[in-house]
Amino acid sequence: MTSETKRNWKPATALVHGGTQRSAFGETSEALYLTQGFVYDSAEAAEARFKGEAPGFIYSRYANPTVDMFERRMCELEGAEEARATASGMAAVAAALLCSLCAGDHVVAARALFGSCRWIVETLMPKYGIETTLVDGTDIDAWKRAVRANTKLFFLESPTNPTLEVIDIAAVAEIANESGALLVVDNVFATPLQQKPLALGAHVVVYSATKHIDGQGRCLGGVVLSDKAWIDEKLHDYFRHTGPSLSPFNAWTLLKGLETLPLRVRQQTESAARIAGHLACHPAIERVVYPGRNDHPQAEIIARQMTGGSTLICFDVKGGKGAAFSFQNRLDLIRISNNLGDAKSLITHPATTTHKNLAEAARLELGINPGTVRLSVGLEDADDLIDDLDRALAQAA
Ligand SMILES: *Cc1c(COP(=O)(O)O)cnc(C)c1O
Repeated sequence: MTSETKRNWKPATALVHGGTQRSAFGETSEALYLTQGFVYDSAEAAEARFKGEAPGFIYSRYANPTVDMFERRMCELEGAEEARATASGMAAVAAALLCSLCAGDHVVAARALFGSCRWIVETLMPKYGIETTLVDGTDIDAWKRAVRANTKLFFLESPTNPTLEVIDIAAVAEIANESGALLVVDNVFATPLQQKPLALGAHVVVYSATKHIDGQGRCLGGVVLSDKAWIDEKLHDYFRHTGPSLSPFNAWTLLKGLETLPLRVRQQTESAARIAGHLACHPAIERVVYPGRNDHPQAEIIARQMTGGSTLICFDVKGGKGAAFSFQNRLDLIRISNNLGDAKSLITHPATTTHKNLAEAARLELGINPGTVRLSVGLEDADDLIDDLDRALAQAA
């Protein structure tokens, strides 16, 4: 195989060429190595490879050439030394957290987490003797106050799902470093293009590649990125032996997704900013939260920490659940679905779907009101999306 070597490429270039390894056929597009295993020329060669004395692949649960290309391309984009690609975003989160922790350890996490992430912290970890504390992630003193002698890990996402709250990653990283804790950041909502958690001081970054990285609603995937020492010491064995591995087919699809990621995220962010501005002036809308607007509660942190707004908008329809349902049901172009980062614009009512398992009080604490909806802006013409929103709001009124 021949490899494309890094030549200080800018992100858009790295996303087209980074990590490509060509077979002897010299194919243009990345090859899809749909194979479970690999054959050895001799028993001695198999022995050497298992001992780690000769390079090469052993078994696709450990590593696979197509998956390897995806991991290398993600490393270039993120500025990380090493990566492991996983079958879903949740497999990435679970692997990053569980490989780092033991019974008796303590975790501090922001309370505004993707539903399944919150379940891992709140429900799964205590079952294995890991103590957890949830804090208001925007309150920096709350992170400090939560630290105990056995605190080993901090976990947060920013912007958060679904209310697009923003946490000061550099400030939390400083407290993590002072406490000897590892900071893991779920960077899905920002995308790897608009926020660089490792540069802000985080130790590990996780993604659901299901979202913007695929970006076309086709397959599940995830990735964990960090320095080589952490991957070697903590994740490597956990990953090999528990098997959250990404399918080569999905890795190939995600490689194709990465090629167009900057174009899609740029266009979707531009449309989202326009739509957020339009909704903010609409009489049927009670509240609009959009990172990139001056009235965002953490606008000052966003200006420091992110290089773009968001492809998502959170807003409240006046009139609560009934009005939000009636509005969603009258949308024609924008479809009701809980995926995000897709080429298709998708809307969801968090209180009755993604966040239905939280108690009402916990939802309100997170700013998820009965009238709150989350809109993931796709690649359609923004004028058509605004027409659809206006018509549905007028009919629902
Ligand atoms: C979707 C998502 C996940 C989980 O990813 P899957 O690919 O669905 O397993 C985790 N965190 C955030 C912020 C997400 O949006």
